[in-house]
Amino acid sequence: MNHRSILSSRDSLTVLGAPGSGKGTLKKNLGIVLGKMRDLLAVGTGDILREHRERRTPLGIEAQRYMDDGMLVPDDVMIPMMSDHVEKLSRKGSKNIPYFDGFPRTLDQALMHSDMLERHGYRNTAVNLDVPAEHFAVLAERMARRAMEDEAAGRPVRSDDKNPEAVENRLRIAKDTLGDIVGHFERRGELITVNALGDPREICAQVHGRLMDLIGVELV
Ligand code: AMP
Repeated sequence: MNHRSILSSRDSLTVLGAPGSGKGTLKKNLGIVLGKMRDLLAVGTGDILREHRERRTPLGIEAQRYMDDGMLVPDDVMIPMMSDHVEKLSRKGSKNIPYFDGFPRTLDQALMHSDMLERHGYRNTAVNLDVPAEHFAVLAERMARRAMEDEAAGRPVRSDDKNPEAVENRLRIAKDTLGDIVGHFERRGELITVNALGDPREICAQVHGRLMDLIGVELV
């Protein structure tokens, strides 16, 4: 079966979920399901910050101490950074669908994000990859596995996946903040929630089905 996506370049996806909940994996799988015509453009704040860190830019140097400990980079750094990013994205007139991964992580970021997307004419859908807090141990295991697999494959290993204290901080922050952020998108009528503990392809199929219900993605 083919899928004809009626997602347009004015759509955006904002993917919410604790670290290790599968935001990157969903991007890969959803990209395949939606097809080449509608490429997703990853906008991952963790990746953007890691790149700044590598290049030793002032922003990267400022962000590093928070990232190493698994703490949030402050909003007065993140909000202008992303505002600038969306501004440029919109100006370029990219045909791809932005896939926000790792942003927003605070309620203030979420408010700014929605304002910004609205101002630039995007129709946003938020996908909540839900993992109940009592299952967060699974996420800690996934992060440890990711570090081991990256190491074995000779890929750069994320230091915050290897450091148990950083893993604990990241999960605690997710537990404390996700509820408010999810509530924000729910109030806006933009939210899709799926259980993120199952098989990744099944999760992708569910997200796709819900996108179809919410904004219309046709199967042909
Ligand atoms: P990630 O790759 O999304 O797990 O992000 C790695 C690290 O980057 C996080 O632990 C934070 O230190 C920082 N970070 C990424 N996104 C944000 C954000 N939206 N707000 C604050 N800090 C962030």
